Amino acid sequence: MSKKIQAIRGMNDLLPEQSPLWQYFEGQVRTLMQRYGYREIRTPIVEQTALFARSIGEVTDIVEKEMYTFDDRNGDSLTLRPEGTAACVRAAMEHGLLYNQTQRLWYQGAMFRHERPQKGRYRQFHQVGIEAYGMDGPDIDLEVILLSARLWKQLGLYEHVTLELNSLGSPEARGAYRERLVDYFEQHQELLDDDARRRLSSNPLRILDSKNPDMAGMLADAPQLLDHLDAESRAHFETLTARLDAAGIGYRINPRLVRGLDYYSRTVFEWTTEALGSQGTVCAGGRYDGLVEQLGGKPTPAVGFAMGVERLILLLETLELVPAESRRGPDAYLLAIGARAEHAAQLLGERLRDALPSLTLQVHCGGGGFKNQIKKADKSGARLALILGDDEIDQGLLGIKFLREQRDQETLDQQAALDRLAALLA
Ligand code: ATP
Ligand code: MG
Repeated sequence: MSKKIQAIRGMNDLLPEQSPLWQYFEGQVRTLMQRYGYREIRTPIVEQTALFARSIGEVTDIVEKEMYTFDDRNGDSLTLRPEGTAACVRAAMEHGLLYNQTQRLWYQGAMFRHERPQKGRYRQFHQVGIEAYGMDGPDIDLEVILLSARLWKQLGLYEHVTLELNSLGSPEARGAYRERLVDYFEQHQELLDDDARRRLSSNPLRILDSKNPDMAGMLADAPQLLDHLDAESRAHFETLTARLDAAGIGYRINPRLVRGLDYYSRTVFEWTTEALGSQGTVCAGGRYDGLVEQLGGKPTPAVGFAMGVERLILLLETLELVPAESRRGPDAYLLAIGARAEHAAQLLGERLRDALPSLTLQVHCGGGGFKNQIKKADKSGARLALILGDDEIDQGLLGIKFLREQRDQETLDQQAALDRLAALLA
């Protein structure tokens, strides 16, 4: 026998057992987006490498070591998208969506990063994200946070997540702060680990992100960005926090929240949970007013977030918040007992589906006796078994057997059975 080919490490199959939970999650997301007036955008999975290098930043983890980059047959450097924002900006600019107008967009799909696979961290994973363009005030920042908070509430997750909030200020203020921070780190050279030393010249703010316990004390005493904000960013941040207070959305100001991507400015936030170990960030976002211009467009304020779908699904499972509906089988499983029933059952199945548009029905295929078929009906998770054999065909009847309730089997005229089904489903 030849060796079986397996999936690529860190890239998961979504099996039919699991897809109902994903569909439930995706359904909640889709309706929520509609309710807030966000419209879906779909962009290709592959983009020119330069798009990500120029937007995410050359000295970020993603661009330095996580991208799936390859040469196309004609020599162009292409990359599997590691995140959704850059492509969204690219597409919005390319199709004139940012011209003299505001936009509220959302997307979902697979992203690719070459990381060390572990629970909650994969090489192909899925994000749902939103991006709002053309609005520079704290009102839209609040909306983006309110939308995410509503999703947690709908999913039953709200008590299990914490909103962490910070402001990165204007690029100028951040530049000045960066110099102070580098000074401070240089005074504590001996406490820096290798990663921090490497970042000192390239991306010193990221050092604040470090989870190394040996640096914790030194980092706690480091100068804080929030103390060095420009006046406008400060006012923006204060308005946002006051409005969150008024909306009853709790948050924790985390002065060391800096986000991994270069393009952020002012508001940044993360929703985190304790329930998933170290992969605890389920949603991350903020304002990125500089990105559109950086990619060659007119200056356009922007704010958005991306959530990690695998982590949210894991969280729902861990907290046992998987709704029963997402585990349910079809309403009914139609048995076809005997040679004539095989075809008759399929015709009847079509009639039932015509008459009852909400009916979910699986019609038995593949022959076999009653015992074998009723076993399959049970395994399908169906509530009802519908029984069609030679006798039923001759007399125009249909049997209805309750698979999950203590109730007697009913055998009815086919038209009456249809009405009965309608009543049972209602
Ligand atoms: P982390 O610090 O966990 O690496 P990140 O800052 O790289 O996260 P973002 O680029 O902000 O993550 O992506 C937004 C969200 O997407 C994350 O909060 C997380 O929920 C999810 N995510 C990011 N990378 C992965 C991955 N490799 N596997 C699964 N989910 C991921
Ligand atoms: Mg990462």
